[in-house]
Amino acid sequence: MLTTISGFDRIGEENAFAVLARANALAAQGRDIINLGIGQPDFPTPQHIVEAGIKALRDGHHGYTPATGIPALREAVADDLTARSGVAASPDHILIVPGGKVTMYMAIQMFGEPGTEILYPDPGFPIYRSMIEFTGATPVPIPIREENGFAFNPEDVAERITDKTRLVIVNSPANPTGGVSDPADVDALAKILASHPGVAVMSDEIYSRMTYDGLPHRSLASYPELREQLILLDGWSKTYAMTGWRLGWSLWPPALFDKARKLAVNAWSCVNAPTQYAGLAALKGPQDEAEAMMKAFDQRRVATVKALNALPGVTCATPKGAFYAFPNITATGWQAKPLANALLDETGVALIGGPDFGTLGEGYIRVSYAAALDRIEEAIARMNGFLETKAAA
Ligand code: PLP
Repeated sequence: MLTTISGFDRIGEENAFAVLARANALAAQGRDIINLGIGQPDFPTPQHIVEAGIKALRDGHHGYTPATGIPALREAVADDLTARSGVAASPDHILIVPGGKVTMYMAIQMFGEPGTEILYPDPGFPIYRSMIEFTGATPVPIPIREENGFAFNPEDVAERITDKTRLVIVNSPANPTGGVSDPADVDALAKILASHPGVAVMSDEIYSRMTYDGLPHRSLASYPELREQLILLDGWSKTYAMTGWRLGWSLWPPALFDKARKLAVNAWSCVNAPTQYAGLAALKGPQDEAEAMMKAFDQRRVATVKALNALPGVTCATPKGAFYAFPNITATGWQAKPLANALLDETGVALIGGPDFGTLGEGYIRVSYAAALDRIEEAIARMNGFLETKAAA
């Protein structure tokens, strides 16, 4: 009988993938399913990026690349980050990785061990807590509250840092809430974090280019005083509709970069070469398709929020970033997960219950508006029919 390490009884998953599988299974039975559960753009990758990947294959880029990524891509990322954050970033500290998620895996592995504490947002991306628990570290939730616009409150972070804290995870623009922290709060947070130089920070900024109404995204990379502590997670998946390519990047504190590189060498050697050339074309090429995608998301955001607010027992704050709405469903009388399950079974609308993002997600459901506008409207009309006729189970 094989035995494995004990962490596997603590590791979690992302329920969005289970919902996707169930939605696909129902669709295969002939049901008309509208999937508002999935966290990926419904647009194809812009054509010039696809062409760059194909050209890289044709040009013979079939072999290993450096474990840290092709130099031109690291430089392009550093230039882009420098332009957006206003603080010079060196390509020497940029690591090209297979997807955004990999950076959180590496950072949590580096700092998580029994007896230590890691702060993470709740509700938040479910892999943070899952990986923290896997390492045996104690997960310490940072509450993300609707009354605070689903942004983190810097004081909530300050109060939770102890002498056991090794890593603080923050995420703005946020999944699952669409919350965006305003620059003043990010300033305050940076000050708090800089006063704890022995605590690492992982800032998940995978939605950094996805804000609305001209709202600025303030990156933690804008604070030179955090340079020795900050691990910045970003990537191509959301901005360029490249979720299936598996391409991300991270900025590491100089003292950690070589450790991160060693993890990469041990785990995946390098990101596949044509994908990296596609990523280069994404950063260096025209941005019009990415911008058009954001315009479409914005239109859907407005329509989604309006329609959700018209549902009985539902109120929905306007998300400021990413492509998720996080309506409050407490007045429907339903618990979130039974409601999400019933909506899928009875109306064919796939959504994710808030508790899949943490205990503070009860009372909410996540609606991804990465779907065609007419399908979103149809889905919310079905939800309306359901809520008007079905008592809470
Ligand atoms: N971070 C957050 C907050 C996300 O929502 C996601 C994907 O949904 C990721 C990271 C992972 O991105 P990737 O698909 O590039 O691994």
